[in-house]
Amino acid sequence: MATQDSIAQRARDLHFSSLVVDTHADTISRMTDDGDDLATATGKGHLDLPRIREGNLGVQWWSCYVAAKEIPEKNTLDRCLQLLDGLNRFCAANPDDVEIALTAADCRRIVAEGKHAAVPCIEGGHAINDSLAVLRLYWELGMRYITLTHFNTNNWADASTDAVRNNGLSLFGRDVIREMNRLGMVVDISHVSDKTFWDSIEVTDKPIMASHSSAWSICQHPRNMKDDMLRAVATNGGVVNVNFFPAFVGEETRLAFERLQVETWEEIEEVEKFARRSAIAHYSGTPEYVAQQRAEIQARRMASWSEAPQTTLSDVVDHIEHIAKVAGVDHVGLGSDFDGIPGGPVGLEDCSKFPAITEELLRREFSEADIRKILGENTMRVMEANVGE
Ligand SMILES: [Zn+2]
Repeated sequence: MATQDSIAQRARDLHFSSLVVDTHADTISRMTDDGDDLATATGKGHLDLPRIREGNLGVQWWSCYVAAKEIPEKNTLDRCLQLLDGLNRFCAANPDDVEIALTAADCRRIVAEGKHAAVPCIEGGHAINDSLAVLRLYWELGMRYITLTHFNTNNWADASTDAVRNNGLSLFGRDVIREMNRLGMVVDISHVSDKTFWDSIEVTDKPIMASHSSAWSICQHPRNMKDDMLRAVATNGGVVNVNFFPAFVGEETRLAFERLQVETWEEIEEVEKFARRSAIAHYSGTPEYVAQQRAEIQARRMASWSEAPQTTLSDVVDHIEHIAKVAGVDHVGLGSDFDGIPGGPVGLEDCSKFPAITEELLRREFSEADIRKILGENTMRVMEANVGE
């Protein structure tokens, strides 16, 4: 037992003296849309300042996530700016606790001052409105990565979970990468199709990042990364940051989640078919009826999600260990996807639990130097190689 306790103590010392960096959280909309005050213990979601301190989360890349399904194309730009504004206002309201960081040096200075460093970034390449001018202005406004796609294929890059329309990257998509390289904006290949990944690797002259992707050989979700891709990231000098979502981490859980999604859509389709039938077409509340039914079905199905096979902190560390084995320990890090996923695995429920990762890595006999790399230094290296000092 003494050994167990001494590992726990060593883990705490190591964790709280390390720069801990997470490269993907979708938390901003909780402020802009739900009115959550993240300076307080919100008691919901996965991030707020008290839990950020508890987890010693030094640097978070705060994603301006533009939902392609919900946000009409004409509103993509203002939605993205609304989210960035939300993050800026959060920092302005809490100047002693959190500050925007635009460089690796900013991150280190802000954390040394005892504050949380917030790096703005974008999820969904469609947010640039097919315009290099918009891309450049996003850079000026502080955005430090863009995921080339989200779940949706856009006009210049194919996603892993949508139709092939560009055979990977289009010619314009290649220009986007060259312009990101020139500016210093990190090319983020989470969510892209395998072909888009290989095209990106070919075009980029800077290290890339997968801000929230796990290993395909453990969990066969199309947005996870195959071993040859992991090795290519190593050659490129980039980093793959592991996603915590149980359906991207555990194969059994992924299959259960897929079944659940299919069943949910089938049930919703039934409701829509019913609503379209002539007998009730005159019913004035039809769109509301469908929306209400859809919400009910989704809520009921999500409640049954808790019965799916569980994944744990240890399963997440399996992904870290696998990527470290295949790509090398210099090419793996953390990309929780907190507040973008329904829940984290057991033992990794929110950002206050980050110290548990350090402890598990120590128990698996990773060296302290390697653990610091995984916790944040690898991502800092990639940030510096792109953004500059
Ligand atoms: Zn995502």
